[in-house]
Amino acid sequence: MSRALSPAQIVRSGLCIGCGSCASGTGARMEWDPYRQLKPTGPATHRRSEEFARLCPFSPSAENEDAIAAARFLDAPHLDARLGRHISCHVGAVAEPPFRERGSSGGMVSWVAAELMRRGNIDGVLHVHPGAPGQPFFGYRISRTEEELLAGARSRYHPIHLADVLEEVRATPGRYAVVGIPCFIKAVHLARAQDPLLAERITHMLGLFCGHMKSARFVESFAWQLGADHDRVRAVEYRLKDANRPANWYTAHLTLDDGSTVQNEWFHLADGDWGAGYLQNSACNFCDDVVAETADVSFGDAWVEPYSSDGRGTNVVVVRAPLIQRLIDEGVAQGRLDLKEVDADFVADTQAAGFRQRREGLAYRLTWARRGLRPVKRVAPQAGGIGWRRKLVYRTRAAISRGSHRMARLASVTGRSQVYVGWARRAYAVYEGLTYHRGRLAPLFDRIERMRGSR
Ligand SMILES: Cc1cc2nc3c(=O)[nH]c(=O)nc-3n(C[C@H](O)[C@H](O)[C@H](O)COP(=O)(O)OP(=O)(O)OC[C@H]3O[C@@H](n4cnc5c(N)ncnc54)[C@H](O)[C@@H]3O)c2cc1C
Repeated sequence: MSRALSPAQIVRSGLCIGCGSCASGTGARMEWDPYRQLKPTGPATHRRSEEFARLCPFSPSAENEDAIAAARFLDAPHLDARLGRHISCHVGAVAEPPFRERGSSGGMVSWVAAELMRRGNIDGVLHVHPGAPGQPFFGYRISRTEEELLAGARSRYHPIHLADVLEEVRATPGRYAVVGIPCFIKAVHLARAQDPLLAERITHMLGLFCGHMKSARFVESFAWQLGADHDRVRAVEYRLKDANRPANWYTAHLTLDDGSTVQNEWFHLADGDWGAGYLQNSACNFCDDVVAETADVSFGDAWVEPYSSDGRGTNVVVVRAPLIQRLIDEGVAQGRLDLKEVDADFVADTQAAGFRQRREGLAYRLTWARRGLRPVKRVAPQAGGIGWRRKLVYRTRAAISRGSHRMARLASVTGRSQVYVGWARRAYAVYEGLTYHRGRLAPLFDRIERMRGSR
């Protein structure tokens, strides 16, 4: 029997990712918190129950990724500590237009979803779309045609929740696939375990590799730094695609209410280094799944050369379900996919920073004192064997994540964007010096390193 918990306890403990599975059909609502993250609210969120304790993907009592994958992928021949159970791994992209051009990376997510729909395996896909005017920038919707599916392509590093689409699935018979980051896919598995209707109808899980989830203030930050009025922003592209520029040179692009646009590369932004963790959801500090280990197939970016320099975008793909394997094998044989089989090490190397943060970094973070619920992870708490500089990187990253929410809120409330942008630049000087041995503080850290080394 699991200990009874409430959504409010998970929120208070900084473990709520905002997936909304606890707000679906329970009377709770998903609302924006002061840091522009989605959280369940309402009297229902104070009710403790064992059901909720088994439903929430960050609950210490929920089944973990290993157990979920073991039950779902019984026959997957490979087991890897980083990628989980799997049948095969690939690198490449979709050859059949227009998936690669329309996708963030190689277009594989939209292709697999479209192919499942074309073959009659599913009736609809739960995935993330740009919002209609007057609504939040992005939200989960159900696509039932290829055109709708492609309209929702591209990566949205923006809070979104599943509460409404899960309700729609309950209300509308059919078979569905869901696209989600690892914790959302886990949340859907846990919801299916408690709800036979969801179990029957959500039949396929397409996972996205994940670094972390950002708050909605990231869009405000883009507006501040691109010289635009946030209230006039009507559309957001986190990664404007340009085949002539390296894929890992992300460009933020905003469309304003008069149709004009502003854009700049992330590396010119004060908070544009993904690894520094600006505006990261605090639950991501307690995640140990980089590659959506419970998904039937997972997709990421091939962040190794020569692929990261190829502006057309290139996927890495981890296949776990036999049906998806068949579909990919046929796609390759027909020349519709341009994929090459690779091994688990190749895929893990494309996410080296993510694995450091979710293995060594997580082990270290689990040793820190904290208030609220203690997360239970597949990684054991461990501070030994980590050098002082790495420890300081993890401490600085956590401080940046925490501080950035507060400073961005202050900047937003006071209307003084420099409060955030100036702080973000100063914080980055510390992070950059520690991590990359670069910038004005690097000589100081390097000197300390030499002194400690010579002792
Ligand atoms: C928050 C986040 C963090 C990520 N971190 C990493 C990382 O560290 N390393 C890495 O290699 N890849 C990461 N990815 C995945 C990467 O950005 C691409 O989505 C992936 O490579 C698939 O590209 P594609 O061209 O095949 O997808 P596309 O064909 O462009 O399709 C993308 C699909 O994902 C859906 N989608 C977009 N945003 C979300 C969302 N927030 N939640 C659920 N579904 C969504 C879209 O609706 C669409 O169906 C991340 C994605 C997200 C959303």
